[in-house]
Parts: sequence; structure tokens; C-alpha cells
Amino acid sequence: MSHKRILVTGGAGFIGSHLCEKLLEQGNEVICLDNLFTGRKENIRRLMGNLDFEFFRHDVIEPIYVECDQIYNLACPASPPHYQFDPVKTAKTGVMGAINVLDLARHCKVRVLQASTSEVYGDPEIHPQPESYWGHVNPDGIRSCYDEGKRMAETLFFDYHRQDGVDIKIVRIFNTYGPRMRPDDGRVVSNFIVQALRGEDITIYGDGQQTRSFCYVDDLVDGMIRMMESREEFTGPVNLGNPGEFTMLELAELVLKLTGSRSKIVHKPLPQDDPLQRKPVIDLAKKELNWEPTISLEDGLVPTIRYFEGVLAAESKE
Ligand code: NAD
Ligand code: UDP
Repeated sequence: MSHKRILVTGGAGFIGSHLCEKLLEQGNEVICLDNLFTGRKENIRRLMGNLDFEFFRHDVIEPIYVECDQIYNLACPASPPHYQFDPVKTAKTGVMGAINVLDLARHCKVRVLQASTSEVYGDPEIHPQPESYWGHVNPDGIRSCYDEGKRMAETLFFDYHRQDGVDIKIVRIFNTYGPRMRPDDGRVVSNFIVQALRGEDITIYGDGQQTRSFCYVDDLVDGMIRMMESREEFTGPVNLGNPGEFTMLELAELVLKLTGSRSKIVHKPLPQDDPLQRKPVIDLAKKELNWEPTISLEDGLVPTIRYFEGVLAAESKE
């Protein structure tokens, strides 16, 4: 792979910081653009001294002017409590962020990859979900600012591609977890681990029979880079996720086992429009990218738990 100057929006976030690190390891220059809404400088502290790394504090809803050879667009809060905190801003980030990276890609004549999501399938009526499924999304609910923002972003990517020949790539990411999630992120893996480590009740929303498929972040980043480097005609969308499917009750029990915690499981109300099931069909990623996840949920939870132990120990010293 040749040396490139790569722009990563949302690069100080959970997935973005792992992506920046991997791209630097591969000998590239990285410009990390982030407004630090959910991202943290702590995530990129190790990279700050690297002369091939630059941090640019900027909001993707404003036009972006940088010289680069490739763009990964990850800027957008991903956790429901965070993206619902300011839903209008979330919708703007999804839509105007896409327009601004696409304008930049068109201007610089470079390839741009969109971090889309399994949320484009909504509460799916087809299970598991192939890329050909158009989804079952409520346009008016509390998740819509995120889901519809991401759907509109995909539309814009294809319109810039058809209208102006912009070189696009779209990945639909399914639930991903790993070190550098925030303890207050609000998503299920971080919530359960933090609750178990603090000895607090494990909060299952609803009866815990809803399912998700959890991908370890290293597997995901590998898939994203493979997609960016894939043949030009293959635009995607392509699902990236781990097809292992777990109920939230199974996840809670696994976290309790691995942490050795004696926390109790309690049930809380299920949030509006919470999808009942989620599992990717990954045949397309296997065929086009020669990619499939290699890290099981149990193997990925171990380093994630270790990471949160470190974070909580540091917090208790403050
Ligand atoms: P994250 O919240 O940790 O990262 C998002 C980053 O974007 C943060 O650093 C945040 O500060 C930044 N950001 C948010 N709004 C911005 C704006 N207007 N301008 C500039 N920066 C902004 O979340 P993540 O889990 O790392 O998700 C990264 C991307 O992957 C997101 O686009 C998300 O929608 C997508 N995704 C993630 C998952 C998952 O399970 N983690 C699943 C599907 C899709
Ligand atoms: N969830 C839960 N307890 C929590 C946080 C989430 O039971 O403390 C449930 C949530 O209702 C959903 C699933 O776990 O059914 C995954 O939620 P998350 O917010 O991680 O992601 P998403 O719903 O976007 O897939």
C-alpha cells in the first residue's frame, strides 16, 4: 500500500481512534478531524507526538478545506443517549457532514468512505439482514435523527457518485465494541461492563430477548481498510459485522462470568423503536473483501473489560 495523506472525520472517537492508529502503522499520514462532542483527546494522546499525525478541531457541518488523498467519514455520535441529546444537530451532522466530505472528495478527486450503519435497516422484518434489504425505519421516532441522517448520507453518496463521478465506498457497520468506548457511552457493552465492575445492577432494557451481533473493533477496522482499498467499481453498501447473534440476557451473563461480578440483573423499560433483532449477512464482504471477523465475543470482551478496569481505577484515584 502506498503512502497517503488520509483524512479521518470523527478520528478522536472510539472506532476513529483505532482507525487512525492502524493507518499510521501502515505508513500513512493521518489528519484527524473532530469536534470532540463524544470523542476525546485521550483517545489520540499516544498519536499526538507522531509527525505523521495532525489533529484538527472542526465540525463537519461546516465546509472542510484540507488537501488529502482519501477520506473516511466517521463523524457522528453513535450511542443512542448521545445522538438523542441534540437530535437536530445529529441530523445535521449526518446530512451536512456527508455533503461537506463529498464536496471535498469531488474537489480533491479522491475516494471517500462513509461509515453507515445497520440502523438503516431499522427494526428489520427480514432476518438476518442482507444489503439488498431496504429496511423498516420509523421516520418520526427518537432514533430517526440518526437512522434517517445515515440513510440520507447514503443517498447523497450515490447521488454524488452518479452525478459527478465521485469515487465512493459505503460500509454498514453493525454493533462494534472494544477499548476506548466511554464509560458513560450508554451502549450495552460498555454499560454492562462498567456496571459489573462497579458492582452496580446490570440494566437490561425490556425482557432481554432482543438480539444484537457484536464485532470487535480490530476486526471492523480491518474490514473498513479493505473496503477503502477494494476495486473502484465496488461501491458497496457492504455489511461489516460479526454474524454471531446474542440476546442481551446472554450478553449480561457472559459479562458477569468474565468479570466475576456479583451484580444483579434488573429490567428497565425498553426504549421506543428499539430493534428486536439484528444480525448481518456478510457474504458480500467475504466475496469482495475476503473479510470476516476473527475475534469471538468472549475473546473481545476480555481486553475490553481490562481496558475499563484501567479507566475505573484511574477515575477512583482522581
Ligand atoms: P463515537 O461517538 O465514539 O465517535 C464519533 C466521533 O465523531 C466522536 O469523536 C465525535 O466527537 C465526532 N463527531 C460527532 N459529531 C461531529 C461533528 N459534527 N463534527 C466533527 N466530529 C463530530 O462513535 P463510534 O462508535 O466510534 O462511531 C464512529 C462512526 O461509526 C459513527 O459514524 C457511527 O455512526 C458509525 N457506527 C458505529 C457503530 C458502533 O457500533 N460503534 C455502529 C454503526 C455505525
Ligand atoms: N440495552 C440494554 N441495557 C443497556 C443499554 C442497552 O438492555 O444498559 C439494550 C438496548 O435496549 C438494545 C441493545 O441493548 O436493545 C443494544 O443497545 P445499544 O444502545 O448498544 O445499541 P443499538 O440499540 O443502537 O443497537
